[in-house]
Amino acid sequence: MSQNNVVVVVGGGLSGLSAAHTVLENGFNVVLVDRNSFMGGNSTKATSGINGAGTQTQAGLQIKDSVQAFYDDTAKSAKTGLRVPLVKVLTGESGPAVDWLQTKFNLDLSLVSRLGGHSFPRTHRGKERFPGMTITYALMEKLEEIAKQTPDRAKIVLKAKVNRLLYNAQTGLVEGVEYEKAGANQQVRGPVILATGGYAADFSEDSLLRKYRPDLMHLPTTNGDHCVGDGIKMSQAIGGNAIDMKNVQVHPTGLVDPNEPDAKIKFLAAEALRGVGGLLLDNKGLRFCDELGTRDYVTGEMWKRKAGPYRLVLNSSGSKEIEWHVRHYSGRGLMKPFKNGAELAAEIGISAAELQKTFDDYNKIGNDQGKTNPDPYGKKYFTHMPFDMKDSFNVAIVTPVLHYCMGGIEADEHSRVINTDGKPIEGLYACGEIMGGVHGVNRLGGSSLLDCVVFGRVAGASAAKQLKSGASTQGQQAQTQGQQVAQTQGDQGVRIQEANGSGNRIVITIHWGNNNQVTSSYSNGARL
Ligand SMILES: Cc1cc2nc3c(=O)[nH]c(=O)nc-3n(C[C@H](O)[C@H](O)[C@H](O)COP(=O)(O)OP(=O)(O)OC[C@H]3O[C@@H](n4cnc5c(N)ncnc54)[C@H](O)[C@@H]3O)c2cc1C
Repeated sequence: MSQNNVVVVVGGGLSGLSAAHTVLENGFNVVLVDRNSFMGGNSTKATSGINGAGTQTQAGLQIKDSVQAFYDDTAKSAKTGLRVPLVKVLTGESGPAVDWLQTKFNLDLSLVSRLGGHSFPRTHRGKERFPGMTITYALMEKLEEIAKQTPDRAKIVLKAKVNRLLYNAQTGLVEGVEYEKAGANQQVRGPVILATGGYAADFSEDSLLRKYRPDLMHLPTTNGDHCVGDGIKMSQAIGGNAIDMKNVQVHPTGLVDPNEPDAKIKFLAAEALRGVGGLLLDNKGLRFCDELGTRDYVTGEMWKRKAGPYRLVLNSSGSKEIEWHVRHYSGRGLMKPFKNGAELAAEIGISAAELQKTFDDYNKIGNDQGKTNPDPYGKKYFTHMPFDMKDSFNVAIVTPVLHYCMGGIEADEHSRVINTDGKPIEGLYACGEIMGGVHGVNRLGGSSLLDCVVFGRVAGASAAKQLKSGASTQGQQAQTQGQQVAQTQGDQGVRIQEANGSGNRIVITIHWGNNNQVTSSYSNGARL
């Protein structure tokens, strides 16, 4: 691969992959570096889906959603942490992002459900497998194919942990990264897009969790062990600003494995399980919240009530709608089938009459969508009604888990990383979970895969724009070094001339000895 016209992407989750494809679409080359032996990160674990307002799928299903409604829901959930420019990009680009996945990668995103905090069904998934897995694999496989067929366009470096950004303090430009592979340090140069994910599994010595949320260190996590905030720490080392770091999302429905109840890493019960009408019951078989409330609200209710173990209960028609998930959890022993309500009541340790009362009360509210009897917890959307003692059920024990970091490195709406003086750091971009501030105080379900794709595309386009504008690593590096030599050696040294007045083509001439000279030209950062 030519050393020029390269963008370096750190991290092969959905955000890094979206950025990499966008760089390629813009005609530049990409080197993607990942510390794991396999790309995908947390993105492959995502279970509920990806949000989009105004998508082709919604139009087909006659869902009258809009960007404004999505913006309003996001702003409400973000609370005091709302950053208007970021949320405008997130929601405004959501439809095109989902359509891009469907058309460019031929993905099935034909099912749409309504998750907590959303006023319309807008979380897209396909009929098979987990949506994070299908979406991320599609982008991954396509990048692998491009790297195989045109190795001068794309290169994937695995088992390579990036430890340092190559930052030129004189020019203020990030020129590449240094990574460790098989015990040796190597460098790759170009504008850098950080896509390393969050820090919700950072239990390390210099733990960001311990620093910002010591109160949450005891909780289990749904995150992979790469989620230790590497990108945030590297950016901070060169002046990057971290924001909202206290905003760590605890998800109410981590799945408790009865054989390993204290395991630190837990599977997640997809939010879509509550989307298909799943009930949350306490240890007395009572409801205690609006199951479709936001994650921070539901978790707060569980903590207030102190009445675990809590159970997530799906009836047979809800189970049918989310069949693939149910089969997956049951296969891992995380969900248990019950032939009828009496069996379930016995498992909870209450009488069948007590569970019958919970169901009856719920049916009274939900059978006409709460119009006659409003839900005491404020639930407004009821699906897969009624709950009947004669029905069969699929049930999981759930507990709050560390899940997502709303905090991260500050970046603007162009994905440019911002320093502690409020200025962009040239040559450095961020996308995905590493990017702080997109979701404010609380992220809505389905909006992280979305922010990976939206800001991955933004970051890829911004890095490509940097290369187009000629502010490339090599151009600037040559210029800096040239100026230094010219200053120190008078006539013998380096002359830099703009070749065509456009600012994107330069000629560098080096003079030494007795009339020796070499000349090189660069255009748009590439050596001619
Ligand atoms: C169980 C689970 C379910 C979820 N469900 C949903 C959902 O349904 N909808 C939704 O919107 N969101 C969901 N999320 C959140 C969402 O999946 C993640 O926030 C998102 O995928 C993060 O993507 P990313 O590209 O930023 O990071 P990741 O996908 O985590 O990828 C980061 C990559 O960076 C690499 N990396 C890290 N450090 C380095 C380094 N120093 N050098 C080189 N490489 C490095 C890692 O190896 C990894 O491959 C879920 C999360 C989990 C854990």
